Amino acid sequence: MKNHKTVEVIITGIVQGVGCRPFLYNLARSLNLKGYILNRGNAGVRLILQGYLENIKNFLENIRKKKPDISFIENIEVNYLDIQKEFDTLEIKKSETGRGISHSLPPDIAVCENCLKDMQNPHSKKYYKYPFIACAVCGPRFTTVTELPYDRERSTMREFPFCQKAEPQSCIQEYSDFKNRRFHAQTFACSVCGPHYTLYNNMREIIENLSIDSILQKTVNMINEGNIVAIKGIGGTHLVSLAEDEVINKLRKRKGERKNKPFALMVPNLELIESVLKVSSAERELLMSFRRPIVLLERRDSSDVSIISNHVAPGLNNVGIMLPYSGIHYLIFDILGEKPLIYTSGNKSYIPMAIDNNAIFQQLQELADVFLLHNRKIYQRADDSVVRIHNKKVKLIRRSRGYVPEYLPIPFIVDFPGAIATGAELSSTGAILRYNRIFPTQHIGHVTHLETYEFLKNSLINMKNLLQIKDSEIKFVVSDLHPEFVSTKFGKELSNQFDVPFYRIQHHFAHVLGLMIENKVDLEEKIIGISTDGVGYGDDGNVWGGEVLLCDYGDYKRLGHLEYQPMIGGDRCTKYPARMFASIALKELGIEDASRIFNNMKLHNSLEYKESELKTLISQFNESNYQFSSRNIPLTSSAGRIFDVIAYILGVANIKTYRGEPAMKLEGIASNGNPDKVNLKIDINKRNGVSIIKSSKLILDILNLTKDKKHQTSDIAASFHIELARSFANIAKEIAESQGINKIGLTGGVAYNYLFSKTFKNEIELEGLTFLEHNLVAPGDAGISTGQLIGGLFQHLNNN
Ligand SMILES: [Zn+2]
Ligand SMILES: [Zn+2]
Ligand SMILES: [Zn+2]
Repeated sequence: MKNHKTVEVIITGIVQGVGCRPFLYNLARSLNLKGYILNRGNAGVRLILQGYLENIKNFLENIRKKKPDISFIENIEVNYLDIQKEFDTLEIKKSETGRGISHSLPPDIAVCENCLKDMQNPHSKKYYKYPFIACAVCGPRFTTVTELPYDRERSTMREFPFCQKAEPQSCIQEYSDFKNRRFHAQTFACSVCGPHYTLYNNMREIIENLSIDSILQKTVNMINEGNIVAIKGIGGTHLVSLAEDEVINKLRKRKGERKNKPFALMVPNLELIESVLKVSSAERELLMSFRRPIVLLERRDSSDVSIISNHVAPGLNNVGIMLPYSGIHYLIFDILGEKPLIYTSGNKSYIPMAIDNNAIFQQLQELADVFLLHNRKIYQRADDSVVRIHNKKVKLIRRSRGYVPEYLPIPFIVDFPGAIATGAELSSTGAILRYNRIFPTQHIGHVTHLETYEFLKNSLINMKNLLQIKDSEIKFVVSDLHPEFVSTKFGKELSNQFDVPFYRIQHHFAHVLGLMIENKVDLEEKIIGISTDGVGYGDDGNVWGGEVLLCDYGDYKRLGHLEYQPMIGGDRCTKYPARMFASIALKELGIEDASRIFNNMKLHNSLEYKESELKTLISQFNESNYQFSSRNIPLTSSAGRIFDVIAYILGVANIKTYRGEPAMKLEGIASNGNPDKVNLKIDINKRNGVSIIKSSKLILDILNLTKDKKHQTSDIAASFHIELARSFANIAKEIAESQGINKIGLTGGVAYNYLFSKTFKNEIELEGLTFLEHNLVAPGDAGISTGQLIGGLFQHLNNN
């Protein structure tokens, strides 16, 4: 046809599974364009369109303007073609399995407003009270997809073929009708053809499986009677119960090791909790976004337990809140009414959440009274994500459902088709490099446990498969420097399996690399990274954790750290802060003076084996005739241990029952304190160009402050936070000045601490320097795998 042009359009980014093809189809159709649209494996979407030039231009202009909310368009490539063929229809073609560097699977998306309306509409025969309702712009994605390209037959929905006859339209009709919201949607189904819930007792006998009304009513009755209900959802199973003291205590007892660990709450709406929790606009936006993470919200007044009991998050001044994101959540609240519910991961401590119905019954037999399970398989496990927001920056604590498998772009060209990082050891993730993109796995947990280690393996393999990376495309494997980490041994195994180089990256350097890459630091640029956390293996064999590192992408120089402290009894010092305190006091004061202090403060009461443990501890110190080179006593520069000790001295936490507990409680107290009422000063010594923050003196000074009874605990805690942050800032500023550097970043677990972080940031910015902080990569050890890939990449470049 004359005046007609033909154009090829290739769109890359997250454009599959977010209603992009139907959107493009309708846009093209409205402009009378012909041709076809096709998903291209992980290479995005390709269109061949024919029509008037003006209409083609109009089409191209509108792609970015009108695209669906959740899609992310990275690039649009346009090629005008000189072809004879004339198209007389516009169609969506079957997907082709393509290779490329664009990876287009979105994360799981919370149920959308339109679907909710259908679910609440009594006239909707197919969808009224149907919990698995979804459409082209909402529903499960990552957790159900087995392979790309994203199509129903490559998802766990393949077991539920579309119905052919249903009123007013069958699912196959909806799927084929371009005017329908479910046109070419892959994971939707209806009450006729889709998955269903069944309610079981904990003997595995069916209580109800026919009427959804009866299932919901019975479930809510069980909850109201104080039972704990296991509810299978999108990426796993929750234990759900009332958030009342008696029930919470029962749940804690059943969970065994979970004496104090905070539980997350699901609330039907934010109005319910706004009188007791602060909700900023950034927090509200994220809570209501399609990601629906758990957001830690600060209490307005820590003594107000009118709506949220203190047993939910004992001793903490923030509470994890999330909004409903799946049909079943809404349906339960519709009957239950305005009450917060405990929604905690359905697992035994340290073991990944069960996702297969048999495993759910097995794992939760002793934990749940009733089981509300469905018959759709969960292909990939994904816990609820957990975040905290500092001003408007997101601090990812657990990055999982709603985030995975999104990628982090690397701001320079990378020629490698693939590499694998195995992460750290606790609260860990793995990650995969695909050219200039990094794909972290979902949150894995403590890989010291066999089941969790298997989860790490499985999720890395899944991610590699999703990205269609061939074995021969893996160019290196990278792990932590710690020779004994399970993840390091696994990395070594993988490198043998793929016959590729194996690199090991120091833990705190990996933290800084993650920070550098997300802040797009230039290739030649150096930054100062403050890398503060609980524990990481140092290149001198000691336990690091309070580090000032001068870094570029290739290497680091340690220019400052917290004073080395002995950990008599090693890891027991991590669990019992009193033991860590005792180690430091013995080192600083000697046996006689230290023993007097132990006596006065009745330190033995805070040790597991009381007096006998204290005796042994002192004799161990004696035997080793304390010196820095003692092989029996590990040395640490960990910031986490100092927070623990201060929490112990101030009577905030005696024993650590979960990771970060003393530090989190200390921050809770500090947030109500006035630092100006306390005169605390921290000394810094410089030895051979390395600045050492004198933590022994700091600890003894604080101990003295507690004695004179003039000071409030909260004021001392606040002052400690502020002075420690200033000490690190002062070292960094001095290096910045002498080396001509203007970027200073904060990373590691301590970066979650708002008071510390805010003080540090102010100090840096007052000096006119640029503060780098996390927003996309987790500050904690879940971010290590990303940093490892960057470290590995530069080692690989240097070696080749
Ligand atoms: Zn929807
Ligand atoms: Zn159907
Ligand atoms: Zn760390």
